[in-house]
Amino acid sequence: MKLKQLTRHVWAGYVYWPLPVMIWIVEDRDGLTLVDGGLPSMWNPMHEAIRTTFRGRSLNRILLTHGHSDHVGMLYALTESLQLPVTAHEIEIPFLTGERSYTTLRQGSKNKDIKPFAPNILQPLDMKGNYGGLVPFHTPGHCLGHVAYYHPEDNILLAGDLFTAFFDKLRRPIEKFTANMEESLQSGAIVKRLQPRLTACAHCGVVKDASIQYINLVKNN
Ligand SMILES: [Zn+2]
Repeated sequence: MKLKQLTRHVWAGYVYWPLPVMIWIVEDRDGLTLVDGGLPSMWNPMHEAIRTTFRGRSLNRILLTHGHSDHVGMLYALTESLQLPVTAHEIEIPFLTGERSYTTLRQGSKNKDIKPFAPNILQPLDMKGNYGGLVPFHTPGHCLGHVAYYHPEDNILLAGDLFTAFFDKLRRPIEKFTANMEESLQSGAIVKRLQPRLTACAHCGVVKDASIQYINLVKNN
């Protein structure tokens, strides 16, 4: 896993297998916030990064943009060793416990890659809350409980799968994994409202001034 500092408080960890996947570590006065759980292979390097880059500062919370398998992969090891709750939009929680199945994953696979989480480690997001400098915004469409996190001080949006990025260009989320593309594009208007300088996409890159590119993204509908 490569680790790259994106802004003063926000770091990206990313791997390239089989699809580029990005997670985020956000530093604040009290410690670290992890946004998304990526792939299982990211756990060891992430652990090492906390020890070295972040000098052993404590991981205080885990936030999810959503519960697709490539966003929760290392959380099983992590929650076991750290006893931290996993916080997601309340609509997303039944998908994480296995009560509901996503219908947009590969034909026939549904939730088979997603081991259910024990309900007692899941915690619903307070949509009016501030989590280590991050403000959550409900951005449904890719899935029902998708959330993007905005860091006002650093003016960066952690967009999860609200968009993808390809060679610095803002793109739509991956069609076959997106439940409702129209709704997801509407949710994407959050970049017009917030005007983030940087928008970081889980797959996989960071886009500058997404609010300008967003206009074309919707036009080519
Ligand atoms: Zn997804």
